[in-house]
Amino acid sequence: MKNKALKRLIYGLPIIVILLTLCSFKQTTPIKSDTTSRRADSGFRIRTIIVDAGHGDRSPEGGRFSPGAEGSYSFERNVTLAIAKKLQAQIEKEIPDVRVVMTRTTNYDVPFKKRAEIANSNRGDIFISIHCNSLPNRTVREIVGHKHHKPVYHYASVPDRSGKGVLLLVYSTNRIGPQNEALLENEEIGDDNKAVTSTENKAEDPMAMIMLNQMKNKFRKQSIHLADLINNEFIQGDGRPSDGVREQVLFVLDHTAMPSVLVETGYINNHSDEDYLNSEKGQNEVAASIVRAIQKYKDEVEEVSK
Ligand SMILES: [Zn+2]
Repeated sequence: MKNKALKRLIYGLPIIVILLTLCSFKQTTPIKSDTTSRRADSGFRIRTIIVDAGHGDRSPEGGRFSPGAEGSYSFERNVTLAIAKKLQAQIEKEIPDVRVVMTRTTNYDVPFKKRAEIANSNRGDIFISIHCNSLPNRTVREIVGHKHHKPVYHYASVPDRSGKGVLLLVYSTNRIGPQNEALLENEEIGDDNKAVTSTENKAEDPMAMIMLNQMKNKFRKQSIHLADLINNEFIQGDGRPSDGVREQVLFVLDHTAMPSVLVETGYINNHSDEDYLNSEKGQNEVAASIVRAIQKYKDEVEEVSK
């Protein structure tokens, strides 16, 4: 160790001498303080969190009806909004130095593209999309009689209520087009983990494309890490079963130029999950787990960029 330090000093010495010499010639020129030392507030900060309630009713003006999954008495589109609102309130209470932007606050659906636009134009640092899971019906067959000594079957579609617990989805890098556009549209200069792009000829500029790819890879890693943190809170904090963290091509996450996680908060077509997701206790627990994970993630990224 000592040898290394000594070597560094010896190798560094000529540079120090050159610097000192330069300084002595430039005594009359004032040195700008912000170019020589990093300002205390220059580290990256999580400032804006986008909370996205999945699905929604058709608005009176028309537009899309995105019902989402159905339980035996409740609908995903209502549960996601209730949890998203609790999440917003809890983030604002527990992490007061961040701003929360909701992509939807009414029962009416907001198109995917609009959601991504809200996230990008508000320069979100994290995007959390709230959803409920559901398993498709399964087909069962039963023997209803015999004909010519052969059984006659009746096929029926029955709900598969076996799914239970949470699942975290992050954007898959299989498709690269839309997120590129979002990154290019998001002119973010200055922050450490934001795209540094110029407005002219971005797509053709090989350097810009290299930076974009690095950025996407960074967002992907950060998304997976945030998803892992949320998953751990669900398992360890609330004792929820979990299907883990998966990568998937998802339109809304595909267009957001920030670390993004889609949270499947539970299976709405499973009776006990449906009760949990519709209860005040369940909704508050889901929100609190996400908030604890965001706080951990925030502390980590802000510590690293100090
Ligand atoms: Zn959904």
